[in-house]
Amino acid sequence: MDIIGGIGAATEGLKLLNELRKIDKEVDKAELKLRLVEVADKLLDSKQALQDAQERELQLKDRISELEQKLTDRASFEDENGLLFRKDASGGRVGEPYCNKCYVLEDKLLRMRHFAAKPGAKAYYLCDSCKVTIVTGPALPRPPASKPYASRFGRGGDF
Ligand SMILES: [Zn+2]
Repeated sequence: MDIIGGIGAATEGLKLLNELRKIDKEVDKAELKLRLVEVADKLLDSKQALQDAQERELQLKDRISELEQKLTDRASFEDENGLLFRKDASGGRVGEPYCNKCYVLEDKLLRMRHFAAKPGAKAYYLCDSCKVTIVTGPALPRPPASKPYASRFGRGGDF
């Protein structure tokens, strides 16, 4: 039973009690007992509604605490192009970044793996969970080929 139902039951119970007070002495005991049972039922209904409301209030308080904690956590992170950095008290970044996509979509804090730039391959971070890659730097230049194909075999006519 919800709160409105509980208030309704309590109101009906009070009405019944008022009616009982007005009843004169000529009322028979059976009628009186019947009315008292009705009052007890209404009181039980309103008690149940209050217990349900108390339970829901506790659940809501827990949920509020959880959301407040998330807000606090969120404030201690900084996103940069999908890389989520934890900040220390002075606002400096601490350690390797986490995957912002996984944090936002799945509420998970997962470290990203860094891959250094190689010749022809850019530096990037990879999330092992969602596989997102975030490029962080240019590729290293490819070393020049040791000898161009043509020079190894000479030019036509040199034989
Ligand atoms: Zn991810």
